[in-house]
Amino acid sequence: MPIFEYKCNKCDCDFEQIVNSNTVVQCESCGSKNVKKKMSLFGVSGTDKHVHSGGDGGGCHKSSCSTC
Ligand SMILES: [Zn+2]
Repeated sequence: MPIFEYKCNKCDCDFEQIVNSNTVVQCESCGSKNVKKKMSLFGVSGTDKHVHSGGDGGGCHKSSCSTC
């Protein structure tokens, strides 16, 4: 199971979360879903996936995403 590091956009804290396919990532401090994925602690390399996790639950599949 991959562990990802997230930063909460609401309270600005950092936390780690084990993410399954159906995991809803929430801030462990304030419970906000407005979080931003940082980097995989497992050292994913060579991936060109362009998917946002967390946030509003929507995925980003655009090639010119301004938030990445
Ligand atoms: Zn928070």
